[in-house]
Amino acid sequence: MKAFGPDFAGAKVCASPNFGSRRENARADTIILHYTGMASGAAAQAWLCNAESQVSSHYLVHEDGRVVQMVREADRAWHAGKSFWAGVTDINSCSVGIEIVNRGHDLGYDDFADLQVEAVISLCRDIVTRHNISPQRVLAHSDVAPGRKIDPGEKFPWGRLADAGVGHWVRAEPAGDDLGLCEGASGEEVKSLQSLLFRYGYGVDTDGTFGERTRIVVEAFQRHFRPERVDGVADRSTIDTLSRLLAALTDVA
Ligand SMILES: [Zn+2]
Repeated sequence: MKAFGPDFAGAKVCASPNFGSRRENARADTIILHYTGMASGAAAQAWLCNAESQVSSHYLVHEDGRVVQMVREADRAWHAGKSFWAGVTDINSCSVGIEIVNRGHDLGYDDFADLQVEAVISLCRDIVTRHNISPQRVLAHSDVAPGRKIDPGEKFPWGRLADAGVGHWVRAEPAGDDLGLCEGASGEEVKSLQSLLFRYGYGVDTDGTFGERTRIVVEAFQRHFRPERVDGVADRSTIDTLSRLLAALTDVA
């Protein structure tokens, strides 16, 4: 692979052959955070740079905080797959993808190391500044591909990122013991929940029927914004957190 200079000054380059052109020169207005879900950082880096894998991301952040750039930000990396956010389906064309080394739910989901989180924050701040990315456009893979992906997962410290000025986040209300809306429910309350989720960007129908898709999207929301309990039940804490997030949006629009 032809070498290139890093877009982020703190990155070492290890070029991946897995990339293309952004569609119609779409600009990067979104950051997608992932975990690698592999046994080691070295294995993940080798895989993302292997032509056979047909996957890549712009950056890989190792557990010790080392940042590796594999695809130029100007190019389209292959990290999001089939996805949706706020009406857009080609997320790869409008995003910068960051893979964070973590074995993931199937291999032993570890806490994210401090040095690693600090590195993710520095990297995101740099990308956000250079591309003028809105806080609410720093998202999880699970936000744009609910049901298909759960990374970087409920252990990812979104609150720490927000404290450092990265991403859009409000402190969640503690989960209570109210029953909430769950799969099988229908009616105006369900429709209103779906409308809130859809307005925030999630890919869900607003048909007033709480089916499997709605449960999966509620889980994705909880994994990012109310990680205390990820159960797909829209209890008062979940709905309150979602409402406050939307209210906070108008402040930054
Ligand atoms: Zn992912």
